[in-house]
Amino acid sequence: MVILDVVIGILNPVMSAIFAVSLYFLWRHDRQHPYVAILVASYTVRTLCFIVLYFSLQHDTMALRLLANVLILLAATLVAVALAVRMGRAPGYGVLLAINLLTMLGWWLFVDSARGLQERGIVVNLGIAAICAVMLRHVHSRTSRTPVEQLLYFQIWMALLLFLARPFIIMASGSAGNEYPLFYWVFTSVSDVIIASTLAVAIFALIASDVMGRMRSDALTDVLTGLLNRRGFEQEANAALSGGGGGQAAAMIMGDLDHFKQINDRHGHGRGDRVIRLFADKLREHAPPGTVIGRLGGEEFVALVMRDRISPHVFAERVRAAFSADAAGAFADGMRSTASIGIAAAKDGEDYPGLLERADAALYQAKAAGRDCIWPASERDLPG
Ligand code: GH3
Ligand code: MG
Ligand code: MG
Repeated sequence: MVILDVVIGILNPVMSAIFAVSLYFLWRHDRQHPYVAILVASYTVRTLCFIVLYFSLQHDTMALRLLANVLILLAATLVAVALAVRMGRAPGYGVLLAINLLTMLGWWLFVDSARGLQERGIVVNLGIAAICAVMLRHVHSRTSRTPVEQLLYFQIWMALLLFLARPFIIMASGSAGNEYPLFYWVFTSVSDVIIASTLAVAIFALIASDVMGRMRSDALTDVLTGLLNRRGFEQEANAALSGGGGGQAAAMIMGDLDHFKQINDRHGHGRGDRVIRLFADKLREHAPPGTVIGRLGGEEFVALVMRDRISPHVFAERVRAAFSADAAGAFADGMRSTASIGIAAAKDGEDYPGLLERADAALYQAKAAGRDCIWPASERDLPG
């Protein structure tokens, strides 16, 4: 049984420990994804389980076996919880707890049985297969899975089938004694290594794609307001203008806060930031779905609205009025703040820079006309 000693005693715990440590460093480096921390806990528990299993081979006691089984169930349960958190679903603690309790109850029923080891093996494998089914449900819930999620889905199916196959191997062996047939040991140990390593590869791929996705979206997002930044807005506005229906359906709205330097000078930069966030909130609140909203920099904002969703004038006027009303109410010391807005409806075939320039020119007119107002780029941009 040298091979068993090597696989159970060294390969499995060392591999689990390596995964636990790697996941831990990933988590420490980028704490944005809580499910990674749960996976660290899972692989740590799994490592402990194999250490206990190793000792239980040397000094076979019921207490050690019980502990090993509790740990392996807990490790699998933690993976299920991690996947639920990753997919934004409720983990289903009740179902997981029921599976754990039923499995341990089944285990306990066969403690003194003549073929106890085999019967307990069947119960525990079925329990883990049930936990895999819960994982599968979490990943399956995605209506459109990314290639990485698809890989994970496939790996969980494979794990589920392997755990389901084990009870049949035990039963088919026909062995009457209170021990596992050798083939079962070899199958179990090797499939454990395969499941743990392929699942870990899928999990690492999932984390890598999540981290990259977040970095990509961070690069396009304005930190202060959470709106798109200049680059993000340019990308999305370009896509919207060249998409089906094209530019003609769109209008560019450009807003700039009035006398903002004075707010900073009199009330401090922190207050200035809160006013900037307030204007961003008003844009978000009043924008219909499909509107692209961004902060170009400083206290300059842009929105690309679809004219079949809302009249650009109605939208701009709602934002202007709500902002000046809320800015007056938000600060106890009577500070006031207003915004000027320029509007340009896209002409046939007009590109992003051209449209932005006309909205900017209209905004300049609004400033010249006395501020706290809306100005159209041309006569065809007038309401009505
Ligand atoms: P106008 O009515 O003509 O627009 O006058 P203004 O004072 O608003 O003039 P301008 O647009 O040139 O001023 C922009 C000011 O915004 C200058 C800068 O100090 C301030 N600013 C730029 N970015 C930020 C920011 O992130 N936070 C804060 N608090 N202030 C900023
Ligand atoms: Mg300004
Ligand atoms: Mg400005």
